Amino acid sequence: MPDCIFCNIVSREIPSYTVYENDDVYAFLDIHPVNRGHTLVIPKRHARNVFDISSEDWAAVMKAVHALAGTIEKATGADGINLVMNNREHAGQVVDHAHMHIIPRFKGDGIRLMPGHAYKGDEAKEVLKKIRAALI
Ligand code: 5GP
Ligand code: ZN
Repeated sequence: MPDCIFCNIVSREIPSYTVYENDDVYAFLDIHPVNRGHTLVIPKRHARNVFDISSEDWAAVMKAVHALAGTIEKATGADGINLVMNNREHAGQVVDHAHMHIIPRFKGDGIRLMPGHAYKGDEAKEVLKKIRAALI
């Protein structure tokens, strides 16, 4: 048994509630949901995060997420959906097998995922310069 919990879920060594699967991706209910119906979509081939997943597996995960977002919103009666991916420990990643969260949202559920802060001075220009210089 590999020591990756999500690989063990894909191989059924650890049980889960299957939402959807095909040859490349597996979708299952998060065991500790932000809201009911919170679903994780993962590549069947192990990758740690967005930085090392193959572009083929990324495309397969995104295709499934695209289809499931609407399905889950409708089925749960949600008023919206958050798509979230945590990459690396300091971004909140706990399980080191790449996964997209599909989180149903309900009017008045009080969940706040993205507290924003205004740019000060030239911060926007400075960070933009760095990002654009790094583009290939
Ligand atoms: P992360 O913080 O790494 O983005 O999210 C990991 C998610 O995996 C958490 O929301 C957590 O509830 C879920 N999770 C962790 N272990 C298990 C498990 O054994 N089964 C299922 N279904 N979900 C899990
Ligand atoms: Zn894995």
